[in-house]
Amino acid sequence: MQALVGVLALQGAFAAHEAALTEVGATTRQVRTPADLAGVQALVMPGGESTTMSRLLETSGLFDEIRARLVDGMPVFGTCAGMILLAADVLDGRPDQRSFAAIDIAVRRNGYGRQIDSFETDLTVEGEELPFHGVFIRAPKVETFGPEVHVLASHEGVPVLARQGNVMVASFHPELTGDARLHRRFLQHHDIN
Ligand code: GLN
Repeated sequence: MQALVGVLALQGAFAAHEAALTEVGATTRQVRTPADLAGVQALVMPGGESTTMSRLLETSGLFDEIRARLVDGMPVFGTCAGMILLAADVLDGRPDQRSFAAIDIAVRRNGYGRQIDSFETDLTVEGEELPFHGVFIRAPKVETFGPEVHVLASHEGVPVLARQGNVMVASFHPELTGDARLHRRFLQHHDIN
């Protein structure tokens, strides 16, 4: 049976994630309300604006529902703003910004600076033969991470792709390069699809 993978669709770059997930054989569902989570086996949190997403997660009633599912072990893949939403600590966030604290990392919003706020680079990813092209757009920068965090790729010594338990995060945008290897890997790691 095809896996049903939710894509948080409150704001941001969710359509490109749907395309990547479809390419690796999953069925996707846009998640905007708690009811949309029913039957969803895994969730992707896209890039966008984490402050806006945080607010919409609250007003939609999704925040508590998603948190409960995460505690339950639902696999989640957060990219860029999605990584911020999953982090234990958010530096330079808005004071009212909330996160799920699902992975033991501290991230600084827009941590790669204003001068070079967007850049692209080839990344060496653990277990992948060919490099993965990383597109960074006002990306969060990991400042610290706990011993439970497994780093899968780094850029200049800073983790940019990591996993802890059911949570995978990327500070770049794997959905924008037409290369669905990380989406496939996310699903395969959890025996989905
Ligand atoms: N800087 C954005 C934020 O803080 C994230 C950027 C992105 O997702 N491309 O939410």
